[in-house]
Amino acid sequence: MFPAAEGVAPAVTAVFTTVLTEGPISRVALARRLGLSSAAVTKAARPLIEAGYLEELAATERTGPGAGRPASPLAIRADREFFVGVKITGDELIGVVCDLRAQVRASAHRRLDAADVDHVLTQLGELVGDLLDGPGDYRARTRWLGLAVSGDVDHSTGLVRYSPFLRWHDVALAERAEKTTGLTVTVENDVKALTTAEQWFGEGVGADSFALVTVGAGIGCGLVVNGRIVSGAHGVAGEIGHISFDVNGPDCHCGSRGCVEAVAGADAIVSQARAVSGRPSLTFSDAVSLARSGDAAVGAVFARAGTAIGAGIAAVANLVGPARIVVSGEGLSAYDLFEPHIRASFQRQAFGAAAECPLSIRPLPFEEWARGAAAVSIKALVAS
Ligand SMILES: [Zn+2]
Repeated sequence: MFPAAEGVAPAVTAVFTTVLTEGPISRVALARRLGLSSAAVTKAARPLIEAGYLEELAATERTGPGAGRPASPLAIRADREFFVGVKITGDELIGVVCDLRAQVRASAHRRLDAADVDHVLTQLGELVGDLLDGPGDYRARTRWLGLAVSGDVDHSTGLVRYSPFLRWHDVALAERAEKTTGLTVTVENDVKALTTAEQWFGEGVGADSFALVTVGAGIGCGLVVNGRIVSGAHGVAGEIGHISFDVNGPDCHCGSRGCVEAVAGADAIVSQARAVSGRPSLTFSDAVSLARSGDAAVGAVFARAGTAIGAGIAAVANLVGPARIVVSGEGLSAYDLFEPHIRASFQRQAFGAAAECPLSIRPLPFEEWARGAAAVSIKALVAS
């Protein structure tokens, strides 16, 4: 069991979280970092070491005068426990097994013939079985399953209120998946799950505030402010895909028009590329190939999409002022076509010092979504 004895639980959680996200780290550095006494850190670390979650590395040499006795840094034992993460899309399940540091140890996926809840749960049960009972023998040390779903998700109850790609309304997903798999299940919105992975194990580590912008079928945004993921009073926050980019632009599925997503979402790019090329069956990768081979009209579609994304990102910088912004997503497999336009548009629209916010622009392997789901479970373990 994860130790959380009464009275010491907050310090245990703080020590574990800091070693997990910033370790290996010495007790002295931990005490300084957390504002705790050395004795309190030692007391909090003991049950974590006894339960096998932390280990003491070999003492390092003293560095410099007055450094005191050699420090033995504390480190995570990454294979103490494993976590399954699954991203559920409208036509596929993507699953991974992660260790405690959210490193992917195994992955598998299954195509979905239908998106009704019963069918998805049956496939989910089989996928989890494949992952845990295959090579690696993860079953014995796995108790948690994280699920990531796009749409309106209540993380605290595990209820999927509405998921447009799955056409689900009010599905008690955590409860049903627990019955199917026997694991403790967390459910989170997919963009928030990715943001969690970035906050704990990626570029967000140590940043008080940052934003993660995802580019793909939709344009999403996860926001961390003062170290916490922003959910918004109505469960909607950071919807930069539905910021108006061009009031005379194309209709958006949300009912508005000219939204960033209506210009830069994958479907929007395909339909604009079909229109300008006169090829009605063009796919997204056809459009990428045409643009890369110098087709000016299709190239302009990607340029406009990049400009819209840059404007959305500038809105985040102007409103929230995050320390850094990560732009990622499967749509960025074509990021050579987007990147200069995202950066130019961002620089143009970010106000004053907001333009100094560093942008990391990189493609995102689809498995990262599943890893995000596992990261939510890791966070839930730590909070439990
Ligand atoms: Zn919209």
